Amino acid sequence: MLKGKTAIITGGTSGIGLGIARRFADANCNVVINGFGDLGEIKEITNDLSHRTSGNAYHHSANLASLDEVEDFFKTLGKLFKSVDILVNNAGIQHIAPVDEFPADKWEQVINVNLSGVFHMSRLALPLMRKAKWGRIINIASTHGIVASEGKAAYVASKHGVIGLTKVVALETAQENITCNAICPGWVITPLVQKQIEDRAKKNKMSVSDAQKDLLSEKQPSLQFVTPEQIAEYCNFLCTEGADQITGATLTMDGGWTII
Ligand code: NAD
Repeated sequence: MLKGKTAIITGGTSGIGLGIARRFADANCNVVINGFGDLGEIKEITNDLSHRTSGNAYHHSANLASLDEVEDFFKTLGKLFKSVDILVNNAGIQHIAPVDEFPADKWEQVINVNLSGVFHMSRLALPLMRKAKWGRIINIASTHGIVASEGKAAYVASKHGVIGLTKVVALETAQENITCNAICPGWVITPLVQKQIEDRAKKNKMSVSDAQKDLLSEKQPSLQFVTPEQIAEYCNFLCTEGADQITGATLTMDGGWTII
């Protein structure tokens, strides 16, 4: 069903986004990833995606914090494809500090990537989806779009914002064969969380594996990490007919983190 559709996955060079890009490549979509990283590694990732799909795979290096670069990204997409069918707004960053010590530039950076990036990508993708009379926007938010943790002011604010934006886009497209949903994962081991585990191990003078257990037991009742593959499977489902009436939803995948 998804064969030949074009899927854009922001932050597709690493972690959750890479898992999602592989899933859409396996479904024979054209896959466009964006994100940073070592150029050699990105080439290997793009080659792997090309082998998985019967369509094409591309990488674009747009910095989502730059409006000019996001607009250039869409100009390139317009030259390559007739439409953008699936947009997964996944790229995200973190900075941890108490509110009164939170550096103003870090606040802006997190909000620009995690929230404004989602707005600009969605704003530019919607006319193409409307033209094709079909579209799926999936925003990778977080449990931190529903609940808070100390030290994560910008991240929590940005992810709550993403959930609000998801609802507005869903309402504005409700009769147009376009859906917009937010997936809210709990802990997933990726470079973004690995750093937090290593910082915790250092701070509490414990091993990395004890810090992992500590992190899970604090928030995630299942005591297991969510995997990028599980999130990718959910994204795939949201693009099938079975999910046509799911829109504006805040979908948790968090081993029970947000039950209470
Ligand atoms: P990651 O650090 O492995 O990957 C982040 C991706 O975003 C990378 O490809 C990176 O290059 C890209 N990126 C960062 N800044 C960018 C920018 N300015 N412009 C373009 N691309 C940029 O992180 P991850 O853990 O895979 O996180 C992916 C998403 O999932 C994020 O939105 C994150 O908030 C969310 N999330 C992660 C977890 C978790 O436990 N890992 C939990 C909930 C939500």
